[in-house]
Amino acid sequence: MNSLVLVSSQRFVDHVTPVGHPERPERAEVLSAVANAFKALGGEVIEPRLATDEDLLRVHTQEHVDAIVATRGKATLIDEDTFTSPDSEEVARLAAGAVMTGVARALDGPKGSRALVLVRPPGHHAEADRAMGFCLYNSIAVGAAYARSRGCARVAIVDYDVHHGNGTQWIFYEDSTVLFVSSHQYPFYPGTGAASERGRGEGLGFTLNVPLDAGARDDEIEQKYAELVIPAMRQFKPDLLMVSAGFDAHEMDPLGQLRMTTEGFSRLTKALLSAAEDLCEGRVVLVTEGGYDLDALKACLQEVIRVSSTP
Ligand SMILES: [Zn+2]
Repeated sequence: MNSLVLVSSQRFVDHVTPVGHPERPERAEVLSAVANAFKALGGEVIEPRLATDEDLLRVHTQEHVDAIVATRGKATLIDEDTFTSPDSEEVARLAAGAVMTGVARALDGPKGSRALVLVRPPGHHAEADRAMGFCLYNSIAVGAAYARSRGCARVAIVDYDVHHGNGTQWIFYEDSTVLFVSSHQYPFYPGTGAASERGRGEGLGFTLNVPLDAGARDDEIEQKYAELVIPAMRQFKPDLLMVSAGFDAHEMDPLGQLRMTTEGFSRLTKALLSAAEDLCEGRVVLVTEGGYDLDALKACLQEVIRVSSTP
């Protein structure tokens, strides 16, 4: 029997970006609405905890944490599309902590415990030593490193956001204990994610990139998952599956040019959950990343909840 919890907070609206920025506070309103609807139907929604410096430093450099902390109380521009507002550092720290809250539930709960972590800003572009692409701290990497510190021998991260998860890739690039799989439009922002990027040193073979042409649709993407992603997971035998669940590969999304439908996301998520049943007793933590059409974001999250709530 599977049980799903949502990790959610009203605080995620307090990271403010300039008017017209796609990663906008209204996204947090969608996340909260989805959590409230789940709660109204009797679902369990838990509050996240803040990541400590120690938690962040498992994947980030001290210099990076210091640089983001230095933005507290201020509105700053980090690069042409990455901004902070006075509360952004705390909100990003809460997003990283929220993934840890989800991981703790997946590890400490009964078999089949799943968590959907509803956070912004996204995190998968943030590298060990820099913020970029709307991301300040790499929340899913902080969560995976926390799982490792809790005794998880192997963690698989699958990233189906339309953009390559460069931050997560580089953080674990030489690490054989974390399998990182990313499917993404290619070539596209941030430019990395070629199939030839497969890890380095001990980590060689523990990074799998699945580049997709602009215009790719559900059937092609689902086939890649069946032929490449699920077999890689089976070979790796993770103790925990984490998913960078970005929904900007949706056909409605204003940033990406992939053509996935809500039903496609539903089936893809279900395939991952099903593999996790066999491999890691159903322990799964899904974490929001991108997804900039508010209706598509909401519809996809509702589908993820539906398939994650089903035994
Ligand atoms: Zn994205």
